[in-house]
Amino acid sequence: MTTVPVGVAWLIGGWPSWRISFAFVLYADVVLAAVLLTFDSPSVVVPLAALFTVMGSYVVGFHGPKLFTAHHIFAFVTVAALYTSAMVNDPAQRLQTNLYLVMLILVMFSAPLICHSFLMLLRRDATGAFYDPLTGMQNRRGFDASIGNLQLRPAPDATLSVVVIDIDNFKAVNDRFGHQHGDIVIRLTASRILDMFPAPAVAVRLGGEEFAVVCLENSEAVKERSELLRILLCNETDRSPLTASIGVAHAVVDSRNIMDRIDNLLGRADKAMYQAKRLGGDRVAVSDESTEDVPIDDRP
Ligand code: GH3
Ligand code: MG
Ligand code: MG
Repeated sequence: MTTVPVGVAWLIGGWPSWRISFAFVLYADVVLAAVLLTFDSPSVVVPLAALFTVMGSYVVGFHGPKLFTAHHIFAFVTVAALYTSAMVNDPAQRLQTNLYLVMLILVMFSAPLICHSFLMLLRRDATGAFYDPLTGMQNRRGFDASIGNLQLRPAPDATLSVVVIDIDNFKAVNDRFGHQHGDIVIRLTASRILDMFPAPAVAVRLGGEEFAVVCLENSEAVKERSELLRILLCNETDRSPLTASIGVAHAVVDSRNIMDRIDNLLGRADKAMYQAKRLGGDRVAVSDESTEDVPIDDRP
């Protein structure tokens, strides 16, 4: 009965915090143990201890291994007390109690294991959904998640820089050397971007032959690195040498509020990139007030 208000609070109040969830586990375990241990005929209620596996599965999904171990130890101590009480108080039912115990142990071990295996599979799939299969770089979904992590760093005001990179005339590479070679070029470009902007910078393949990097670093260093990247991308020894247009934008932001600024900065860096392309490509353009005024329809 006491779980009804908890369920209602859950539905109305939204997803609980870690602390509330922990308190819920503690509460549910203690109440279940109290109910089981105060029952008149312990041999009958032994199978009901299987209810611990419901909470065990919840703990596997939403908490760490430490709480799972603590929960399991608590459940086994309760079962041991219940079993002893049943053996002492109901000697006529010893065979049944022993059978229940075997069944309980099987259930209590196997259910969380099965749950854990499913979760591992789901997590593996979810991780795959965050990455672009061609380059191994993060896709837009992974990028959004990583930006969330940048946000967690407790620096106050920081310079947030966004770099947008687009290969010049990439269609011609596909047309001349074939789509497969185009793929190799995209992979190589991604790996050069990651070399120039390693973690904690966050790099993403926005789509096609367009990439972006976000980093919390001073604007001069980012401009310098973007210029080095431009040179690195334009390698004469490549089978199909290419050039790229790079747009850079930065702003001083409150690091707890990065998400709110990221779209604006991406837009500004994108405009700067198109400005670089309009000027003939193979260059780095930095967004400033005038870049913000470039009308989007002027794009080539
Ligand atoms: P611009 O200089 O204006 O950037 O021209 P562009 O040719 O680089 O750009 P455009 O957007 O006109 O063409 C991009 C091409 O990239 C078109 C598309 O076929 C190709 N492309 C997109 N994704 C992939 C991919 O995953 N592999 C390969 N090989 N080609 C791709
Ligand atoms: Mg292009
Ligand atoms: Mg493009």
